Amino acid sequence: VTSPSVDPDDVAPAVRELDTIVSLSKRRGFIYPSSEIYGGINAVWDYGPLGVELKSNVKRAWWRSMVQERDDIVGLDAGILMHPQVWVTSGHVGSFSDPLVECATDHRRFRLDELPGTEGLSVMELQDPGIVERLGLRCPVDGGPLSAPRRFNLMFKTFMGPVEEDAAVIYLRPETAQGSYVNFKNVLQSSRKKLPFGIAQIGKSFRNEISPGNFVFRMREFEQMEMQYFVRPEAEAAAAFETWLPARRAWYERYGVAPSRLRLREHAPDELAHYAKKAVDVEYRFPFGWKELEGVHNRGDFDLSRHSEASGEDLEYFDQTTGEHLIPWIVETAAGADRAAFTFLIDAYREEEVRGETRVSLALHPELAPYTVAVLPLLKKRPEIVELCHRIKADLQKHVMAVYDDTAAIGKLYRRQDEIGTPWCVTVDVESLEDGAVTVRDRDSMGQERVPVEGVTRLILDRLEASRAG
Ligand code: ATP
Repeated sequence: VTSPSVDPDDVAPAVRELDTIVSLSKRRGFIYPSSEIYGGINAVWDYGPLGVELKSNVKRAWWRSMVQERDDIVGLDAGILMHPQVWVTSGHVGSFSDPLVECATDHRRFRLDELPGTEGLSVMELQDPGIVERLGLRCPVDGGPLSAPRRFNLMFKTFMGPVEEDAAVIYLRPETAQGSYVNFKNVLQSSRKKLPFGIAQIGKSFRNEISPGNFVFRMREFEQMEMQYFVRPEAEAAAAFETWLPARRAWYERYGVAPSRLRLREHAPDELAHYAKKAVDVEYRFPFGWKELEGVHNRGDFDLSRHSEASGEDLEYFDQTTGEHLIPWIVETAAGADRAAFTFLIDAYREEEVRGETRVSLALHPELAPYTVAVLPLLKKRPEIVELCHRIKADLQKHVMAVYDDTAAIGKLYRRQDEIGTPWCVTVDVESLEDGAVTVRDRDSMGQERVPVEGVTRLILDRLEASRAG
């Protein structure tokens, strides 16, 4: 279901048709439909050989800027399964739901707030049993009558232990954040951090989305990259919010996303989640419209007070300098690893005419590209050339992902690497055997230079380092 764009300041997406990215992903091994030989399973996707590299580079880049380069943030890896009370206390059992409507004729289900004609409706209006009739909404597929909205909880349930009974019901986490809250005291005591400090996590989350789609934009199983920043109440939280919001937007720009295709959107008061004091989304101009890429939330003291109350555990922070006891406030940055990787993939896509042919390239940031370098022989029939290629590749492989390919002529080999975003290619030719030099080709400028064999690894590592700094 797409609704017409009403943004006056709209910009063109980097790619017109989503299908361009979907088919490139399948063809080159970034992303495949899950369980495809059985017809697939809706809203679950598998990362292929290149996709797993891209996504892990995205996660590493996030970790680098959120944990490695900071003194005030530590990492955590909490379990996907948690005590079921966590989700009662957090409010997810009671209210982590979307308004669902069902078509009486084809039984398709839709999220009410995603149907054309519901733009701008408040949360209260979306719950109004008479809303469908009042607006005259019909099924967007076959025009059939739609039911009144009902709340549909998005958490996946399963059973812990051998007996499938109500008492054994547990949930697959729908967010990683709760793991950081329930470990607040553990982390505080073991890391001896002082406010303000943060806990960062990357991990799988699960949501039984009513209307998943748009490829990996909305999945039922996905990975989140979330950071909870614990601060002193109110003023410090407001200030931290104003620091984190531009920092998070800048992170996407640093890794290559065009600033014009990013914007910030603040949640209206009636759109705010039950816990939130303020929420702003970093949005990206996807081929299907402006959509959330990441959320920055001021959650107040909701989380720690509620968990403190429900668990009976004292989650207060004791400030040794002032002698004060306080419940920290939390500013959260909540991003998706899949959505971020998807965004980098879309925004890097380039098509241009080169000598009458269409050249497709992915201008991925070198740190995100699946392969940093490809080593290619100009003549695979010459064993000395192939042997030198393998020697160069083996040295590069100690540091970065490097690949060797000799299954086509050089022009085609370059095009293949361009299409998957490999920033540099090293080509060994007949002359290399005499002068001990090879050609290093740059993906974006297509410029070539001769470099002594012994200097290749250093050159690639220097360029990678320079791209990181720049
Ligand atoms: P929406 O309103 O679109 O359902 P949300 O506001 O509930 O999303 P958050 O709970 O703030 O999303 O989740 C934080 C981030 O996790 C999102 O910005 C997104 O990048 C990622 N994310 C959330 N749900 C999904 C999903 N179903 N598939 C992929 N990524 C997701």
